[in-house]
Amino acid sequence: MTKKIFLSIITICIMTLLAAIFLVTALLYSRSAEIASAEVRTDARLIASAVEQSGGNYLDKTDFGGNIRVTWIASGGNVIYDTDEDPDSLENHSDREEISQAFDSGEGSSSRYSSTIMQKTVNHAVRLKDGSVIRVSGVHSSLTAELMKALSPMLAILIAVVLFSVLAASMVSRNIVRPINNIDLSHPKIKKNYKELAPLLEKLNSQNAKVSRQMDELQSSREQFSLMTESMEEGLIIADPKLIVLTCNSSALRLLGAGSFTQGQSVYALNNSDVFRRCLLNALGGRRSECILRTGDGQREVIASPANSIDMVCGIVVFIMDVTEKQELETMRREFTSNVSHELKTPLTTIYGIADMLANGMVQSGDVAEFGGNIRSEAERLINLINDIVSLSKLDEDAAPHENENIELFALAEEVLDRLKLNAEEKGVVTSLSGEKVSITGSRTILSEVLYNLCDNGIKYNVSGGSLSVKISHIPQRVIITVSDTGMGIPKQYLGRVFERFYRVDKSRSSRIKGTGLGLSIVKHGVLYHNGTVRVDSEEGKGTVFTVELPIEKKQHNEEQGVF
Ligand code: ADP
Repeated sequence: MTKKIFLSIITICIMTLLAAIFLVTALLYSRSAEIASAEVRTDARLIASAVEQSGGNYLDKTDFGGNIRVTWIASGGNVIYDTDEDPDSLENHSDREEISQAFDSGEGSSSRYSSTIMQKTVNHAVRLKDGSVIRVSGVHSSLTAELMKALSPMLAILIAVVLFSVLAASMVSRNIVRPINNIDLSHPKIKKNYKELAPLLEKLNSQNAKVSRQMDELQSSREQFSLMTESMEEGLIIADPKLIVLTCNSSALRLLGAGSFTQGQSVYALNNSDVFRRCLLNALGGRRSECILRTGDGQREVIASPANSIDMVCGIVVFIMDVTEKQELETMRREFTSNVSHELKTPLTTIYGIADMLANGMVQSGDVAEFGGNIRSEAERLINLINDIVSLSKLDEDAAPHENENIELFALAEEVLDRLKLNAEEKGVVTSLSGEKVSITGSRTILSEVLYNLCDNGIKYNVSGGSLSVKISHIPQRVIITVSDTGMGIPKQYLGRVFERFYRVDKSRSSRIKGTGLGLSIVKHGVLYHNGTVRVDSEEGKGTVFTVELPIEKKQHNEEQGVF
């Protein structure tokens, strides 16, 4: 703007100057032309009157100087006298404009311009009484010549004026622009000297208010959005078509195992695995895509969807969910199904084999009782297995009866040990019960199964002459059941796995002792059902201790309890 004002001022100054010079020159020229014509006329009249009185002698005696040319032309047009040329060498002048006018009307004048010398010749002719004519010619410079003459002073003035204009223009333009530059665009105030800017500044003020309102709204909706996404358990990433992250919540960073995220980063900076890349590229290609990512601490399900605008993908939305537990459960379910099939098939195959032999008369009558006993034992194993599976699946599906009765645990333990009396005697294990009478609220059926499985194991995996002790005690708000035996114990490396379904320590050892591998699983679920905990401590060859801790008042059963 400063430059524009500056140039405008300079241009106006120069144009004005040039116009002034031209006009003044033209005026002066026209004035001097008039004076020159008048002088020539006066000279012609004076010389004519002098010649009239003194004849040709006047002309011969008089020195006219070099400024005018005097010519005496006879009435026929021949030149009698000329100050500049030999009259004989001059042609007949009767056809000259001023001379023919003088012949006709007594006086005549004309002017002629010579482009070669850039001069104008002014002529005036006066007729004498004898019919001859005196002509006086004076030379007057042309306008161009005048201008050319004035060129050097004009240039000097022009340079001076230009210099002055440059200084003045730069000062003026700066003075005009400075207050405009100093306007605070965020809070514009109308200045007295700049009333012309008032509508613009008012508009700016209202635009500022509007923009600030919209920014506040944007900020608050952005904060709301980020508050909502930050409270999500699932990871959320929104990226543009170049896969630059626009939004990313902290769950996404956590689930992808990415440390931090900076604005303008690529999604690949969060996870660079091939699976993830393929999933995102598929979404960019316009197809919803899903994949499972294995990160350091688990498995993530990634769902990437294209964000379409008209007929092009303008970005992608990625959801990330922690499916570690889901996947583990899925694996456990698969293993459980295959284990169940296997465990059911083994006794059934034996039963089928024996039955086949009996049907084909391959068993001698003396052996029938023994084969019958085998069938009963395998059937018993099947029944136990099915009972355990049923108990476990009831606990799994939360189909166990939601009994909330008062159970006295000492009496319940007594009952259980009584049921196992024969087993203990057969194995040569001495059982004992100690502690105090403690009542808790819970399910009698489930607690009875918990105690039964622990005591049954304490007898099964015991040694002849060993002992099994059950102790019921309590601490504030909690009851502690300890089932300890002096049996074979569990090697340290297996301790963490004994609660898994179908897990049996050392198959060769376990195969000698009947079992389904589900007992401790039922114990764990039963305890969890009562919001309690179970712990195992064991020393190989010395014995095992199971410690169950249960709250005295059974809390509301946790519907989302995990499955072990
Ligand atoms: P099972 O039907 O085989 O007894 P459990 O789930 O009850 O299945 O037990 C899992 C495994 O833990 C058993 O196979 C056994 O090897 C081991 N175990 C359980 N209780 C004891 C114990 N008291 N002493 C030694 N080993 C035990």
